[in-house]
Amino acid sequence: LARLRDRLARSGSPLGTRLLAVLSRDHLAEDDWDELEETLLLADVGAGPSGELIDALRTRVRVEGLKDPAQVKTLLRAQLLELVDPTLDRSLHVAPTVAADGTRTPAVLLVVGVNGTGKTTTIGKLTRLLVAEGRSVVLGAADTFRAAAADQLETWGSRVGVPTVRSEREGADPASVAFEAVRTGKQADVDVVVVDTAGRLQNKAGLMDELGKITRVIGKEAPLSEVLLVLDATTGQNGLNQARVFGEVAGVTGIVLTKLDGTAKGGIVVAVQRELGVPVKLVGLGEGPDDLAPFDPEAFVDGLLQ
Ligand code: GDP
Repeated sequence: LARLRDRLARSGSPLGTRLLAVLSRDHLAEDDWDELEETLLLADVGAGPSGELIDALRTRVRVEGLKDPAQVKTLLRAQLLELVDPTLDRSLHVAPTVAADGTRTPAVLLVVGVNGTGKTTTIGKLTRLLVAEGRSVVLGAADTFRAAAADQLETWGSRVGVPTVRSEREGADPASVAFEAVRTGKQADVDVVVVDTAGRLQNKAGLMDELGKITRVIGKEAPLSEVLLVLDATTGQNGLNQARVFGEVAGVTGIVLTKLDGTAKGGIVVAVQRELGVPVKLVGLGEGPDDLAPFDPEAFVDGLLQ
């Protein structure tokens, strides 16, 4: 795969151009099919799904006697879309729960992922969206490992008038900050509490303990509505390893794929959805405050084929 990447980088041709070049041949020979499969691998679709897709496509092309490359492309698009699964529920659960006596409990969103993937930025953008929808929000800076992380979160929050619960002490217990944030949110009767966490993968047992404790402690105050795993699309198949670890540790309910504005095609969507059995719900498309969007399977597949 490294060799293929090199080749692609040298040729400077984007994936879609490559796909089109293969598909525009009059007749697809063995080598062309291999090239199609390579192209999917390069887009990080993953070896298993790429192989299965090409096999299924070849069979249909043979059985239906398709000759026209445009028809093959249409089929390829349909099969990619099926892989991404447009039927999954990708909505974010951000509504507070209301008890029979009318008491409201905020929806709690826990945001997890390796440091640098874009957790804090994503929370900032998401908070803006929630506020724009008229929801009240409290943020919790449970990434107590770096003071700068809490500052960054607070900056995003204050821009849209949302308070941040944090500890002034670096290395404070993340679970107690998370607990405090949820309690503050309940007292203030807000709709949503969003909790940022640290993601140091170097120590898996430590991470597991930390996230386990955070979820337990939050659970005492309010049900967890979402555990969002943030993955950086530019790390390719690495994201899959991260998904495995966090899936084990945190009971992930949705994925946010960031940095799709770069060269990454994000075919990793297919692999992580399979791995975790949960949908990609949001995508990050830049560093700016408005660069967050719901994941749109159709647009995504068109992007892959462009
Ligand atoms: P955290 O450590 O997981 O909280 O990551 P940060 O939110 O601090 O983000 C790490 C870096 O990635 C920052 O420079 C962000 O501006 C950048 N970043 C986050 N999301 C995106 C995105 O969707 N696109 C791009 N291009 N950069 C992003």
